[in-house]
Amino acid sequence: FPIKLFLRKLTAALRTQLQSTEDDLGNLKMLYLLLPANLAFLYSFVLSRSVQVVYEGDILLRRGQRSAINCENCLWPKSRDGLVKVPINISSDFFTERLWIADALQEVSTLTCVRFVNRTTEADYVHIERGCWSYFGKIGGRQALGLMKNGCMDKGAIQHEMNHALGFIHEQARSDRDSFVKIMWEHVMAEQGNFGKVNSRNLGLPYDYASVMHYGAFDFSSTPGEPTIVPIPDPSVPIGQREGLSNLDVAKINKLYKCNCCSFVLPKHEGSFSSVNYPSPYPNNSHCLWLIRIPQNKVFLQFEAFDLQLSSDCSSDYVKIYNGNSKNSPVLLDKYCGKGPLPSLVASGSTMLIEFSSDDNVTATGFRRFK
Ligand SMILES: [Zn+2]
Repeated sequence: FPIKLFLRKLTAALRTQLQSTEDDLGNLKMLYLLLPANLAFLYSFVLSRSVQVVYEGDILLRRGQRSAINCENCLWPKSRDGLVKVPINISSDFFTERLWIADALQEVSTLTCVRFVNRTTEADYVHIERGCWSYFGKIGGRQALGLMKNGCMDKGAIQHEMNHALGFIHEQARSDRDSFVKIMWEHVMAEQGNFGKVNSRNLGLPYDYASVMHYGAFDFSSTPGEPTIVPIPDPSVPIGQREGLSNLDVAKINKLYKCNCCSFVLPKHEGSFSSVNYPSPYPNNSHCLWLIRIPQNKVFLQFEAFDLQLSSDCSSDYVKIYNGNSKNSPVLLDKYCGKGPLPSLVASGSTMLIEFSSDDNVTATGFRRFK
């Protein structure tokens, strides 16, 4: 196989493309994905000499931004209603995938103050096209974000790429990562930039093995079966999940964007949770959400204690439960208050959303759920 000729052809093709307009960069990035790993460095090189550099595998940085990984001016603005609106449009290449994208982004919106709105005339927006990469933070103007079937369209993968656009780096690139993982450099593929460490803002929140922003143990391994990342001290801790945002992923978005949200994710097969301060009385004006998301099967929820201020139509304090991952999902249990009987519910799928709300009046001890 004439490898030299192939390289020359490839370089020529890249050069030709680089002279074209920015809209064509999408094709370029696609090319990067299709390249064998040991040739990918070439593409990074050519690309870095033009308009952008590929950083950490799937993050694109603008020229000159390489070390500016601390996102200062790259956050999406917050409007007066406290919501952070991110205008998006989705390439017409996508059809059935639109539903998956909408579902993954809806989960972000449900749990944080970030809202994804259909772009109309906004100058700064995210254009979703084929690929598997994103820019870091808001870059201004139209910014592409790549997603595709077979590897980059899981709920967590969609959220991963969008999290980059919101201003998040990879979890294993955090400044404190050496206390939590060991990078096995001898097994890392040639383009070692994927495993760099940056002087990151960690928002005062702990390192999260369960983050959708964490690489998997075998990602970018040059040797089948040999890990590139090993958690320490316990190497068996799972990393690299793409089921969906972790509880800390949600906390980080809410902290970075100063959202006034009380939301939690319960990703385990079983577990329990309770209203704030339980068994002491819950606070006034408390509004919290719990998203239960299990890998498979149907969510089953059983309350073992329930005591909320009783009001007509439960308009004061209530628990409301949705059959899905958002407040737009069908209602499983409409506003419920008082002292019981204890609700027991089954979702039709693997997600269930529990909303708790109290007004500024009487409070009671709240609830505790057990599964
Ligand atoms: Zn990434």
